[in-house]
Amino acid sequence: MKTNRTFTMIKPDAVENGYIGAILAKINEAGFKIVALKMTQMSKRDAQLFYAVHAQRPFFSSLVDFMVSGPIVAAILEKENAVEDFRKLIGATNPADAEDGTIRKLFAASIQNNAIHGSDSDENAMIESYFHFATREMF
Ligand code: GDP
Repeated sequence: MKTNRTFTMIKPDAVENGYIGAILAKINEAGFKIVALKMTQMSKRDAQLFYAVHAQRPFFSSLVDFMVSGPIVAAILEKENAVEDFRKLIGATNPADAEDGTIRKLFAASIQNNAIHGSDSDENAMIESYFHFATREMF
């Protein structure tokens, strides 16, 4: 996969709150092109694998329960410097610390229910993209 891409999920809280359209609009306005998109629901096993890096953290089981609590919207986004620019667009993990105008500041309620995921490296963007999408679903 090209390295000018990142992976995102609109998390169950933001889907439940009706923010899919507003968040996708923000993503487009910031210059990202959507090259893969789907609404899906993660199984418990999916969420445990996706967040395996956090398996020893005290919030792991709560995070897994949250991520399987409803549908998510997964997407692959293309833009020069995609990973870094998208992390800036979504803001800090805790919306209380996120800068004004960021997606988490606008749409998130708590450090766990924080509306959106963004890959933290080109390598993870690729791993996470192939976790959710088949090659024929990437454009
Ligand atoms: P991110 O890269 O900004 O998404 O943050 P991390 O990789 O550190 O954490 C992954 C996800 O776990 C976050 O997006 C939150 O949904 C959740 N999370 C992170 N820190 C905490 C915490 O202290 N408590 C709880 N309950 N969830 C957390």
